[in-house]
Amino acid sequence: MRALIAENSRLYRQFLDNTLGQQGFENDICDSIAAGRDFLDAEQYDLVCINHHLDDGPGEDLIRHLNESGRHAATPILFLSNDKSLVRDDLPVRVDEVVHKFNLQQIADQITHFVEIHLDPVFFEGRILFVEDSESIAEAILGQLEQTGYRVSHFVTAEDAWRDFETEVSYGSDLDAYDLVITDVNLAGQMSGQDLIGLIRRLEDARGFVPIIAITEENTAELRISLYQQGVNDFLQKPILAQELLVRISNQITNKRLLDKVHDIRRELYALATTDKLTGCHNRHSLMEFSDKFIAQAQRHGYPVSALVIDLDHFKSINDQHGHAVGDIVLQEVGNLLNRSFREGDLVARFGGEEFVVLLSHCDAAFAVDKAESLRVEIEALNPNDLPITASIGVSTLGGDVAGDFEALFSGADKGVYEAKEKGRNRVVFRDL
Ligand code: GH3
Ligand code: MG
Ligand code: MG
Ligand code: MG
Repeated sequence: MRALIAENSRLYRQFLDNTLGQQGFENDICDSIAAGRDFLDAEQYDLVCINHHLDDGPGEDLIRHLNESGRHAATPILFLSNDKSLVRDDLPVRVDEVVHKFNLQQIADQITHFVEIHLDPVFFEGRILFVEDSESIAEAILGQLEQTGYRVSHFVTAEDAWRDFETEVSYGSDLDAYDLVITDVNLAGQMSGQDLIGLIRRLEDARGFVPIIAITEENTAELRISLYQQGVNDFLQKPILAQELLVRISNQITNKRLLDKVHDIRRELYALATTDKLTGCHNRHSLMEFSDKFIAQAQRHGYPVSALVIDLDHFKSINDQHGHAVGDIVLQEVGNLLNRSFREGDLVARFGGEEFVVLLSHCDAAFAVDKAESLRVEIEALNPNDLPITASIGVSTLGGDVAGDFEALFSGADKGVYEAKEKGRNRVVFRDL
């Protein structure tokens, strides 16, 4: 990154050079408007620091030159001043932030913060779907966006844009999904920008919430209302000011990032609340929450469900002989085995201690007993931490046409476990309801 420092005090020149240097900037330094102009005409800067007073006139004059040149229309400008009452809006030229010169540490902090907000590369990270049929406007906007680090896919018609958007991955801040859609309203193809907006907003997954900025030729109240009703987040009227576009883009993408974070946190909390920490299986709470739905669905569609209750044999003696930590490893390995042994639609839960429950959908009694028996054999062969273990498994089935709830199903399988223990453990016992 490159910065221009225009400052007439030698002390401050050095201080700014150091502060920005630490932020990774290479700096060009000058003390006058004339020298500043030469630099601005010859170089492209990511940041400009200009002092209120320069050797040959006010700093505002250099900013005026900078704003007129077009080349630095979007470059952030820091304005330094000894005048403690000076605020940004007092200035007749564009300035992004005023820095008051009184405490060097505070100035350094303020500049660091400013750089983070305006120039942190994350700030400019993002994928944009851009739909514009006017070649010259598209070219100008693409030119602007290219410099910022955004990755832009440009389409001329809404049809082509939709084809691309429709095949996008849905949600995931870890996935590389579109972060923003910018669309012209009047487009060359059959579909208008509004048609595209409608299609996007009707999507039921996270793609439907992507921020959208509309670009319009006109700016009537009716059009604005209709665009906002359709779910546009922001709109810009042509001709488009590059600087304004960039700020609006970054606002939308920043908001989306925050929403993505909320989404992530919600997923994490949900996973935490429903998962048993030690084994990665569903926890008891989650089993209770899903089991009724699980069974209601089976009965509505008339297919059987079965339950396995799996209780490790003489587990207490593993703890007693080898310690609780080894007991935990055994539980973990049994949990892993269970998690990889069942189908997607089945539900594996740690019910408590060394007892697991599996709900099997589309599973009749014969299949459930087979499954339980092969699981029993696998547990016997598992040898977690080189320890021989076995389990007693109770099985019970709710036919598609049999009334009953989870409690009845669980109670049947639980009695099966009890009977298996009675009969000598390491066996499967089926119990009718
Ligand atoms: P049985 O064959 O009759 O089932 O005997 P058992 O020893 O397996 O059954 P019991 O119910 O007497 O003991 C279960 C033991 O499981 C007691 C408890 O300390 C242990 N336990 C429960 N939760 C955990 C845990 O999270 N980690 C460890 N290491 N042990 C646990
Ligand atoms: Mg157009
Ligand atoms: Mg036990
Ligand atoms: Mg037990």
